[in-house]
Amino acid sequence: MNRPSWTVHKFGGTSVGSAERYRHVAQVLLDRGEDPCAVVVSAMKGVTDTLIGLVEAAAKQDASYLNQLDALADRLSSTLHELLSEARAAELDATFSRDIEDIADLLRATWLLREASKGSVDLISGYGEIWSAQTLCAHLNARGHETVWLDARDVLTVEPSEQGSPSPLLEQSEEELHAWLQANRGEATTVIITGFIARTASGRPTTLGRNGSDYSAAIFSALLSAPSLYIWTDVDGVMSANPRLVPDAQVLDQLSYQEAMELAYFGAKVLHPSTIAPAVARDVEITIKNTFNVDAPGTLISSTGGDDFAIKGFTTIDDIALLNLEGTNMLGVPGIASRLFSALRDAGVSVIVISQASSEHSICFAVPSSDVDAAQQVVEQAFFAERHRGQLNNLSVSAPCSILAAVGDQMAGQVGIAGQFLQALGNAHINVRAIAQGSSERNISVVIDQDDAKRALRAVHSSFYLSHKTISVGLVGAGVVGSVLLSQLDEQRALLLRDYNVDIQVRAIATTRGMLLSEETIDATTWAEREAALTPTDLAALVEHVKPAHVPHAVLIDCTASDDVASLYGSWMEQGVHVITPNKKANTKSMQSYRALRQARRKNMHYLYETTVGAGLPIIQTLRDLIQTGDRIERIEGILSGTLSYLFNVYDGTRPFSEIVAEAKELGYTEPDPRDDLSGTDVARKVVILGREMGLELELDQISLEGLVPEELEGASVEEFMERLPEHDDAMRARYESARERGCVLRFVGSVSRDGSATVTLEELPLTHAFARINFTDNIVQFTTARYNPNPLVVQGPGAGPGVTAAGIFSDLLRLASYVGVSR
Ligand code: ADP
Ligand code: ASP
Ligand code: MG
Repeated sequence: MNRPSWTVHKFGGTSVGSAERYRHVAQVLLDRGEDPCAVVVSAMKGVTDTLIGLVEAAAKQDASYLNQLDALADRLSSTLHELLSEARAAELDATFSRDIEDIADLLRATWLLREASKGSVDLISGYGEIWSAQTLCAHLNARGHETVWLDARDVLTVEPSEQGSPSPLLEQSEEELHAWLQANRGEATTVIITGFIARTASGRPTTLGRNGSDYSAAIFSALLSAPSLYIWTDVDGVMSANPRLVPDAQVLDQLSYQEAMELAYFGAKVLHPSTIAPAVARDVEITIKNTFNVDAPGTLISSTGGDDFAIKGFTTIDDIALLNLEGTNMLGVPGIASRLFSALRDAGVSVIVISQASSEHSICFAVPSSDVDAAQQVVEQAFFAERHRGQLNNLSVSAPCSILAAVGDQMAGQVGIAGQFLQALGNAHINVRAIAQGSSERNISVVIDQDDAKRALRAVHSSFYLSHKTISVGLVGAGVVGSVLLSQLDEQRALLLRDYNVDIQVRAIATTRGMLLSEETIDATTWAEREAALTPTDLAALVEHVKPAHVPHAVLIDCTASDDVASLYGSWMEQGVHVITPNKKANTKSMQSYRALRQARRKNMHYLYETTVGAGLPIIQTLRDLIQTGDRIERIEGILSGTLSYLFNVYDGTRPFSEIVAEAKELGYTEPDPRDDLSGTDVARKVVILGREMGLELELDQISLEGLVPEELEGASVEEFMERLPEHDDAMRARYESARERGCVLRFVGSVSRDGSATVTLEELPLTHAFARINFTDNIVQFTTARYNPNPLVVQGPGAGPGVTAAGIFSDLLRLASYVGVSR
């Protein structure tokens, strides 16, 4: 007769944190009703840490260990009393108290010796599992379920290994386990087994290493030939990234053994990396499940794995040091890599990634920070002769670093995955110090600065998973345009999130009155409500806040017209913050500072300023497209001021020019001082921006500018200017009439040509000219190029007003989103 096969469960410390949790675990087991069933348990949450802490304190002669031990005894005792009858609780409590006394004796010895032997650490740290197994066993028995418990040290023998976890002696352990079951199981359907602990061949107590209960469970599954092992923890399964670091992480339905091992090895704490080997050896399927959400299907780890994603998960390991061995002529030093790595292995230093440049001038490898000294010594000794001959330089060390790994079976053979991975890091402005791709092509690892790790993890995760992609925004200047932008964002936010996975979060707003920094997105309502409670504006603090460690992309939008703010763009980009601006100042300072700004963009930073010319009209973008597609720009000319466009559209000689200016001022179409428009300086700035975009070296003072402010009124007050402007009406009328006689109209035009000449002036243009037929405050720009010749390309439309300007800034924001790989 075929005996029914064993099912094995493992409950981690997170599942047995309190009396209530033991009760819940028991219920899960009773509901499943499996027979026979083996249950591997960890210590109660935090108990192993406490035990190790006790030993460390005693070794340092820190007397607080005595209180900690008392507190631990109390925690055990109260758990028992909550779970069991008075009599049974007292009985077990007495057993545990004897253990506590033994521990106290060992700690006293440690105190006297001022050091902890490996033996006492191994023994003491394993008590948590001994207590936990007995607690769960007693509770199941109390609920009428026949259960026995097994101290794994009675059957499981392991051999220490120099690196990594100890290995089980499978045959011997299997025999002993079956003998033990024969002798002790009786009628019990369920056997509770201690995780984490084992014994050595000589019978000494030992452990499988921190987090080792997963490994115990896999070993016992193999020993019992169980087809399936359930590992119960506090998350719904193995996730695409550590959920504590990446809130968007998704539960993976399936993983191959190799994928699971690789993820575990590179830091996914949910599974101990050694768990996989015994499972593969005996073909045990592993399911990771959530004790707190029993109905969730969990993650199945098996030989098949599933092929839903090319990259399954991302992990990070912190506290890494990157070492670089460089030589002037390493080619001449035979077998250098193998000598290096065998020397490191002999010294017990575990090398986590290796990357060798093909030039063979350097070998780069990463080790845990704690092993740096050992690694340095090894290299000293192993390459003494070469160092002496000057063939090898010193070993350089960078720390603290982190390793970021991407894992997935399907990566193999898929072109472009590594590219996308590195691109995502580049877009997030993360400096990659070393790259290694395993020959299995199942893993790409990079070494980065530890400070960047969280942001890097989120950036790569969001690049591969359809999760929400956040862009953090800081708004400097919340005047008319800034406020309209806020409202436009409010209207589109939900749609952008739903349809494009773009989450635009305004985290800061600064005005001359003060600033608001917020963890939540600031919408028009929050802004209106909190504008009263501003703190003094500090742009440096604002930049820090807009670029927190966990958000991969940040942008500052400058809606001021300030010179001072414009001069900060370069440093913002150096700090990894993109810049969007309608402010013309930065682009029209000296060529030298213009070039410096472009330099600052070199590390994949974006600087977008479409709205500096023609408000929301696509003028800069059109120009760039023409240039990038190989067209040659001969000349750009246009009506670039909405105000001047309006004035000359309305002026037809019937009413004095000064009256039209006064009316436009009333309607708010001009600046408060209309001379700011009439002077033509604003148009000249736009001409400079366009000229520079064409590739010309153009300064503002090289523009030949004919403004419309009569010289004698330049120094007057605004009132005086308005009062005396009518004195010049006749002159303007004369120009108008003479133009009309020639069948022309007057238009205020800015233009720049390939030869570097640039003018801003009032021109006479025939009625057939495109510029003669525009409306209201329209802007119009005409590109004469090698392709668009003789018929130029024309962009025309409303070129002023807060609505269109804000919309133009919004498009720059979406353009940024797509540049950094956010929108799909
Ligand atoms: P247990 O006590 O049950 O063994 P652990 O704390 O050892 O639990 O492991 C579970 C924890 O692993 C989760 O709470 C989660 O924070 C962490 N973790 C890290 N990376 C991952 C990942 N990729 N998927 C799921 N959990 C992860
Ligand atoms: N209790 C042990 C630890 O905390 C083993 C485990 O929980 O897996 O490391
Ligand atoms: Mg664990």
